[in-house]
Amino acid sequence: MTINIAIVGAGPAGLYAADALLKVLPESQIDVFEKYPPPYGLIRYGVAPDHYKTRNTSRQFARTLEDNNVGYFGNVDIGSDITFAELKENYNAIILAVGAYNDRELGIPGEKLPGVYGACAFVGWYNGHPEFRDLNPKLDQPGVAVIGIGNVALDVCRVLAKTRNEHSNSDISEYALQSIEKAPLEELHMFGRRGPIEAGFTPKELGETRDLERCHALVDSGQLPETVEGEFEGREKGIKEKNLNILKELANRAVEKKPISMNFSFYSSPKEILGVDRVEGIRLEKTEVIDGRAVPTGEEFEVPCGTVVTAIGYHTAPISGVTLDGGIIKNSGGRVDRGIYVVGWAKRGPSGTIPTNGPDSRDVVDLIASELESTNKAGREAINALLEKRNIRRINFEDWQLISEQEFAQAITPRPRERFTRVEDMLAVLEKSA
Ligand code: NAP
Repeated sequence: MTINIAIVGAGPAGLYAADALLKVLPESQIDVFEKYPPPYGLIRYGVAPDHYKTRNTSRQFARTLEDNNVGYFGNVDIGSDITFAELKENYNAIILAVGAYNDRELGIPGEKLPGVYGACAFVGWYNGHPEFRDLNPKLDQPGVAVIGIGNVALDVCRVLAKTRNEHSNSDISEYALQSIEKAPLEELHMFGRRGPIEAGFTPKELGETRDLERCHALVDSGQLPETVEGEFEGREKGIKEKNLNILKELANRAVEKKPISMNFSFYSSPKEILGVDRVEGIRLEKTEVIDGRAVPTGEEFEVPCGTVVTAIGYHTAPISGVTLDGGIIKNSGGRVDRGIYVVGWAKRGPSGTIPTNGPDSRDVVDLIASELESTNKAGREAINALLEKRNIRRINFEDWQLISEQEFAQAITPRPRERFTRVEDMLAVLEKSA
């Protein structure tokens, strides 16, 4: 009897799970569902476009999707095209690998003003995500404030700071690059409510702010401690020390006159986004860090800006019939309910790099194998029949490869690839080749 397993979400966590299933349950038939035609989730739509090498990790996942036991169901939305109940009816186990696709909110006045964007939307915009490609963010003022001091905040600032020349090995969408080129950017502010030691940056990403063509990174040496204090050990301590050394280097070097400055502002907690019809500035409160927590000092200051990007983390979007718990799917070691499991950011929250998902997904697959009920389920055949009846155009992996090849063929040189950003354009490639 075939074991049928559905994975909802074709990002790294879901595809690591598919790969583990092929090894642990080689007799299983695995179907991977994704709302839009392209697979790879965060690799395609989250990783910064100028980190093109990281995007190439998708090649390892392509091998999984090419396996005979794996079926790719791109352009199939679980919830509207196929209901969650229908999945339960037709599969022995379901793995939710839906990521964390909603921006967390700051919860301060002014957050709904035009000109405020969550990182999910903003990053999705420059990465050509169909849902955000029409975001058309306001980039018409010299100042941009980015809230948060993690790698996503760095990504946003760096992508805005880079010139077309520096994006030559990037697959940023052309419309976004044109919009950034036109923007009269002068001041990129990155605000952290805690200090440089607590920042979520990693040294490689921080180091990339050193030598940007048109942007000088500015750090106030007065905000930097002499050494890394606190209960950090091993690898974490090493990262903190490297970060501190880079920040010291940025603080102590001569200021180069460049059109844009990237200001690292620590100990600054946002209080209000200012403006009447749109963002005009941001009011922040100085903090001090006591026992690792940001404690307000009562001292406030304002900074003019026309755009605010919040890079403060994500939470998982609700799925009907599944309980959320503080931004993730409620689970115990990956188990959500009988026959239902969760992996990746939807399981443990938005942290870690792409490879972090490997061991995590493998553990959940081991759990599935130990609990699997071998009732007869119809799996793929039933789903294909439902899709046909509903006139939903499923994108299989071969279809996706055709679309992907066309993205390379239509590259705007010297950039390697120009993505399709509308589903209808992706489907048109298939119609043409039929
Ligand atoms: P992150 O490192 O957790 O950074 C989130 C930032 O938002 C923190 O500085 C946090 O401050 C701040 N924040 C949260 N709530 C806030 C609030 N209410 N007010 C002000 N600030 C607030 O997460 P991320 O940058 O979103 O990245 C997510 C994960 O993806 C991380 O593990 C990251 O390393 C990874 N990533 C990796 C790469 C790469 O390897 N190149 C690139 C992008 C992302 P507190 O610390 O004070 O809470």
